[in-house]
Amino acid sequence: MTLAGHNGNLLGLNQEELENLAESLGQPRYRGRQLYHGIYARWIRNFDELTDLNRDFRSALEPHKEIIYPQAERHFCSRDGAVRYLFRLQDSSSVETVYMPDEDRTTLCLSSQVGCAVDCKFCFTAMLGAKRNLTAGEIIGQVLGVAAGQNMVRGARLNLVFMGMGEPMLNLPQVLKAVSILADPKGVGITLRHIAVSTVGILPRIEELALAPMRPKLAISLNASSDEQRSALMPINKKYPLADLMRVCRAYPLRSWEHLMFEYVMLDGCNDSDDDARRVADLLGDLRSRVNLIPYNSGPELPYRAPEFERVLAFQKILTDRRIPTFIRISRGQDIHAACGQLSLSIG
Ligand code: SAH
Repeated sequence: MTLAGHNGNLLGLNQEELENLAESLGQPRYRGRQLYHGIYARWIRNFDELTDLNRDFRSALEPHKEIIYPQAERHFCSRDGAVRYLFRLQDSSSVETVYMPDEDRTTLCLSSQVGCAVDCKFCFTAMLGAKRNLTAGEIIGQVLGVAAGQNMVRGARLNLVFMGMGEPMLNLPQVLKAVSILADPKGVGITLRHIAVSTVGILPRIEELALAPMRPKLAISLNASSDEQRSALMPINKKYPLADLMRVCRAYPLRSWEHLMFEYVMLDGCNDSDDDARRVADLLGDLRSRVNLIPYNSGPELPYRAPEFERVLAFQKILTDRRIPTFIRISRGQDIHAACGQLSLSIG
């Protein structure tokens, strides 16, 4: 299969687009539905495997169209079972995806952009700067590419989290297109309850997400307890300060089964005091929320450190005493730089 500059990749096309393609090749529209099922539900990569498709259609597709997964250029295996994949894309830029197996469910941490424009001061991906948005096909390709690399069986229990490289809300149309195929029972078939999108809080995009017909769960990277602190760590806070963020969060239409998730990276001496915890509790108040405390994963180029574990526990207790469910998330794959915020092509 050729890679460079190929624009005949079917991966990322939705059912309607594949039906249109079938029609444009003189075939009935349902042939497009068969193709959709083959690509996303059966994970086929060669038209030969589509034996339910008629021969005419297959030979009409073959000269121009392909099903191309991103190429797993390298992968790194952690002692804890996590695997970090470096995928080479068709324009030869790269993204990273993390595979994290667990007893009952495997989590895939997906990237939504090459690099990131948001410039959070503690994050290694930020050091890459903004490169480009991923297409829906490149997002779905991370899922199917890891599935192929790990010999996963269809129907495997998966969680998808958009917590890799990039700010998903700055690529919302392609993220939502990918989600609509990933969550479609006739497509990849991972239910929306098992897909989460994490954002620094791009407020107009959160309001847009609220209206999406196929809406994943929402996680907000809070990371600080006051505007002053948050603006220093996350300059985006100057544009979307805490009061506005919390107003949008309170208006967000949660489904009956859903909590709003808040991530809070714990940075030693920076945002981890008892007063910080109290301010976080005040901010969240009676919102139906869950907090994930993420002790910072450090790396060579940035000065931040994780607090002592006792500090993390004390912070957690203040929140749980205020009846805010709060969990400590120890990132997987730290030994291979696959942990939260460590994804960066300059490392490894
Ligand atoms: N841009 C989105 C998606 C990335 S998610 C967002 O920020 O939400 C990555 C999560 O890891 C975010 O909550 C981020 O605050 C956190 N993070 C970034 N760098 C980290 C680091 N070095 N250690 C721990 N968490 C980190």
